[in-house]
Amino acid sequence: MSFAASVLTLYPEMFPGALGLSLAGRALEAGTWSLEVIQIRDFATDRHRTVDDTPAGGGAGMVMRADVLAQAIDHASPPGDPRPRLLMSPRGRPLTQPRVRELAAGPGAVILCGRFEGVDQRLIEARGLEEVSIGDFILSGGEPAALVLLDAVVRLLPGVMGNAVSGEEESFENGLLEHPHYTRPQEFEGRQIPEVLISGNHKKIAEWRRAEAEKLTRERRPDLWAAGHPLAK
Ligand code: SAH
Repeated sequence: MSFAASVLTLYPEMFPGALGLSLAGRALEAGTWSLEVIQIRDFATDRHRTVDDTPAGGGAGMVMRADVLAQAIDHASPPGDPRPRLLMSPRGRPLTQPRVRELAAGPGAVILCGRFEGVDQRLIEARGLEEVSIGDFILSGGEPAALVLLDAVVRLLPGVMGNAVSGEEESFENGLLEHPHYTRPQEFEGRQIPEVLISGNHKKIAEWRRAEAEKLTRERRPDLWAAGHPLAK
């Protein structure tokens, strides 16, 4: 059972992009996940293949048309398709690691990439789109956001990451930011690797890492710290 992604976009050339390389690229080749890229413009019906129009009520910019998008979505995701339909949107619920894990455990995702000022509200309601944001900033289009979401999901698919343990210890997986990392050389510009890490005492090392992770989380992400985490008990 592989993860099936369908992406609807005005810029199909942006895919697979970075996801054609490295871990995600190998997993794509191996069939661990699949990527269908759909050109929204193919579903326009007029001579000029128009996908957008001026905003009702006036104002700057253009809005993507509900009728054209509905045709594209119904083609990618006919009724009965079990995959969630996502709309990349700065108004959406911010993407988190738990949601990423949920998506990775599911059958795939249909992802609509917005452009211009966004999409007609009636389309969002009529097709039950889940709006997903990748952060409190504005991109010029949903494509980079879709690539970010898929990157986060694909690395969790079975067999994609060589060393599965590193996934479990990562930032956010236990509600903490990750501890600092070091590797050879032992001395770099007068700075040493912390003594405890070369002690060979695995219990001490685990304690040190946990203490560093907690300190970092308290300092940098008081919001995460306040939300509590399993190891804090
Ligand atoms: N006028 C809109 C922004 C449109 S940006 C507003 O103020 O809310 C154009 C498209 O880029 C959006 O439709 C969305 O698909 C994508 N986009 C921009 N910022 C994003 C973000 N932070 N997360 C996810 N998608 C984003």
